[in-house]
Amino acid sequence: MESLINISYIVASVLFIFGIKMLGSADTARRGNQLSSLGMLIAVAVTLMASGLSYTWIIAGLLIGSAIGVVAAKRVQMTGMPELVALFNGFGGLASLLVGWAEFAKEGNFDHSEYPVFTACAVVFAILVGGITFTGSMIAYLKLSGKMGGSATVFPGQKVINALVFIALLVMGAIFVSTGAAWALYVVIGLALALGILGVIPIGGGDMPVVISFLNSFSGIAASAAGFVILNNVLIVAGCLVGASGIILTVIMCKAMNRTLGNVLFGGFGATSGSTQEVEGEMKPISTEDAFYVLEAAESVIFVPGYGMAVAQAQHAVKELGEILENNGAEVRFAIHPVAGRMPGHMNVLLAEADVPYEQLCEMDDVNAIMETVDVAIVIGANDVVNPAAGDDPSSPIYGMPIINVHQARTVFALKRGQGAGFSGLVNTLFFRDNTRMIYGDAKETMNNLVGQFKD
Ligand code: NDP
Repeated sequence: MESLINISYIVASVLFIFGIKMLGSADTARRGNQLSSLGMLIAVAVTLMASGLSYTWIIAGLLIGSAIGVVAAKRVQMTGMPELVALFNGFGGLASLLVGWAEFAKEGNFDHSEYPVFTACAVVFAILVGGITFTGSMIAYLKLSGKMGGSATVFPGQKVINALVFIALLVMGAIFVSTGAAWALYVVIGLALALGILGVIPIGGGDMPVVISFLNSFSGIAASAAGFVILNNVLIVAGCLVGASGIILTVIMCKAMNRTLGNVLFGGFGATSGSTQEVEGEMKPISTEDAFYVLEAAESVIFVPGYGMAVAQAQHAVKELGEILENNGAEVRFAIHPVAGRMPGHMNVLLAEADVPYEQLCEMDDVNAIMETVDVAIVIGANDVVNPAAGDDPSSPIYGMPIINVHQARTVFALKRGQGAGFSGLVNTLFFRDNTRMIYGDAKETMNNLVGQFKD
């Protein structure tokens, strides 16, 4: 029986690994997800069969949890995905905390003076990481969903307080491991929950998606710790996979913003008002009728999508305009910034959904090299990822972040609803440049209007 369980766990782990691998491409991602789900089904079924426990509570939990999960996943908009991931991370952390607690309070026994050191360490670790992940993710969820101010909350002595809470957490954990004293574990729970809140409130603006990914990694580590508590190999493996992939994604995001993880976590981005440079000029609007004449004469056009395209769900209209321009003789390209939107690959997924030809998608560096030869750059609801301040304003908080240099194109059309700032909350000097024209309105409507002008 023991070998059968372990073989099933190995099969499940292999399915997880292949499933994750297949997530690397939009074509295979759906099947990858199904493969990983099958792995999880095998792991859960085998664990339940081997446990010999009463299934009543487990089935009740499974039904309630699955119902909530299905409804939440069906209802979520593409733009709300990061919030949903934040909630999932949070509940993963809470589950690990509860597993640690359940082991500690097993059979109502709170006297742990004889507790094995390994188990005590695993319990403390699962509770510590799980607690931080739970409250940290809840704050991230509240910020991302706009239920709480999205900017960084900083106050004097914040870093010292956080460091002291962390040290106290370690000391209390050590006391619990060495004495088994229940009070020390209660303090660990309280401090871990507090540290999750304290750690995430100083992070804001455009850094939130990085935090989500970081907390995702944490939820994996917490699950792994829970696996050590209940000595379940597949939980340890699955937790490690989530922990490792989450941290890799975090590093990719930081690199794309030219920031370090330390700077994201402790930099208090968004707490300051930003640049000290005066913005010169004014935003100049243009009608779709006039924009049409410019586009009709253009020989090369680059589309630069951003978060606003996702909000407007404009990708199909964008693809249609691209086709029309190409038939009109223009060379058409799509330039995707690695952190455009709210999650890595966000724009790639939307453009793939609209069947934009793969050969028209260009990397940021390739497109920047030819930007000066481009007649028209159409910025569709992108803001921070095309802000020239990142390159020419050393006082800007985003100075040093690689951007798509649309300001170097001959003409720029910036499509947005109004004068709202990007995710970082910073003023975008692109919109004030001489060669930029603003086309106000919902991006999908604007695109459809332009398509209509060509068809008339
Ligand atoms: P931004 O959030 O900077 O800007 C989005 C723009 O879209 C806004 O200016 C908004 O202006 C406009 N907009 C919103 N709705 C619509 C609509 N219906 N029609 C037309 N325009 C609309 O987006 P970017 O993609 O440029 O930048 C992504 C941000 O997220 C960056 O700050 C990046 O650092 C951050 N980030 C992203 C990560 C990722 O993985 N993708 C990871 C980490 C950070 P208005 O309100 O006036 O319409």
